[in-house]
Amino acid sequence: MGNKRRVLEKSGIVTALSDLRGVFKERRLSFDEKWMCHALVNSLRSSDPKRKVGCIIVSLDNKRTISQGYNGDEPGGSNKRKSLETGESGFLHAEENALIMSDGTDQSDKKLYTTLSPCYTCAQRIVLNSTIKEVIYLESYDELALKLLKKNGIRVRKW
Ligand SMILES: [Zn+2]
Repeated sequence: MGNKRRVLEKSGIVTALSDLRGVFKERRLSFDEKWMCHALVNSLRSSDPKRKVGCIIVSLDNKRTISQGYNGDEPGGSNKRKSLETGESGFLHAEENALIMSDGTDQSDKKLYTTLSPCYTCAQRIVLNSTIKEVIYLESYDELALKLLKKNGIRVRKW
């Protein structure tokens, strides 16, 4: 336990988040802020040196966390990028991981928060999932993918 604690203190993230509680004395996070913060924290689990992406899928009413993910290899994989070219990391994408880990039988309406807007293939998977009604992203990646989502009736919102 001591060893893990030292690593956290070294990175400072726990201290930084803990200190934020002082800033939020007078108000609490909105759900929108809370979920995007979750997506950002998830992105920090990625071992991709080029682009760390995190996402989280939650129920549309904000009551339940459905699934989450970040870009990386399958369990036990090397977690090393295959290439530094854009789109050639060889990693599973954050949204892909979250969709795979979600319960496919849950037909309730959901929304997906991601630090980077989906690639075209992930957008196709989101459409195929059919229960995700909104995608909220921090940074833009692929305009065509966003168009595909909108064309299929999924609300798209930039943070
Ligand atoms: Zn993708």
